Amino acid sequence: MSLAPLKMKRLALSAGVALAFAVSAPAFADESVPQNDLLNATLWMQKSVEYKGNVLGTFALARIRLDEALADKSWTALPEMQDAAKVSDMPTAIILDCDETILDNNLYEAHLVKDGTDFSPKEWTAYVNSEQTTAMPGAVEFTQYAASKGVKVFYITNRTKEEESATATNMEKLGFPMGGNVDTLLTKGEKEEWGSPKGSRDQLVAKDYRVLLMLGDNFSDFTDDYKGTLEERQAVFEKAQSHWGKDWLVLPNPEYGSFESAPFLSDYKLSADERRKKKIDALDGWTPKN
Ligand SMILES: [Mg+2]
Repeated sequence: MSLAPLKMKRLALSAGVALAFAVSAPAFADESVPQNDLLNATLWMQKSVEYKGNVLGTFALARIRLDEALADKSWTALPEMQDAAKVSDMPTAIILDCDETILDNNLYEAHLVKDGTDFSPKEWTAYVNSEQTTAMPGAVEFTQYAASKGVKVFYITNRTKEEESATATNMEKLGFPMGGNVDTLLTKGEKEEWGSPKGSRDQLVAKDYRVLLMLGDNFSDFTDDYKGTLEERQAVFEKAQSHWGKDWLVLPNPEYGSFESAPFLSDYKLSADERRKKKIDALDGWTPKN
């Protein structure tokens, strides 16, 4: 006897049940289950093989691009900051963001989901100082490869100067190459003019090194024009088209970043529901015909 009809009936039944739940979800919502918008993103980043595959793929591409960049003496990832005709004799460097570019903070993100709470700077600092951050797959190997080729590895992070010592110890334990007598971990606030935008820190590296690659998970790791509306960000993105996948490589991060705050223009005075509504309003949706 074929099982197909039974299977079909079961599928139809479960689809019906799923639909009933979807329609009446609020009535059945179990309040003991934390309702947190970070759930899918955190589950994906902490537990999925798809995420790991994405990250390994990006670092594999980074290795190829690094070799190309070393061979082409006029290659620079920061042509607006350095003259391609004058960089050939400079020592080489790469610039990497830390969080969710090479460092995996999903223990912290999972805490937010499981405990139904929001990001707090104080708690974040306590997490950083616990030195439990892990390395993203392929990140240590890639940075070590770059260092083995004589490339200086700079980390430009918005972890703060108060978090720098624990971050450096944590990264060293994980095996990331640190700068020796050169300060290669450039944190937010370490110098007065080093705020959230990273351009002034990029500039500092570009003064002494030919910058081969930039790696980050957030638009702000590549440009100071990351704020603004979704349309303005799109225009900046398109203007930089020649960089993407070449000398600017992006790691996936659906958990947080300027993409997430753009729909409500970073107005954190709005309530969580108001912010959520603006994000939903920003989506283009299909309208079914009845
Ligand atoms: Mg980051």
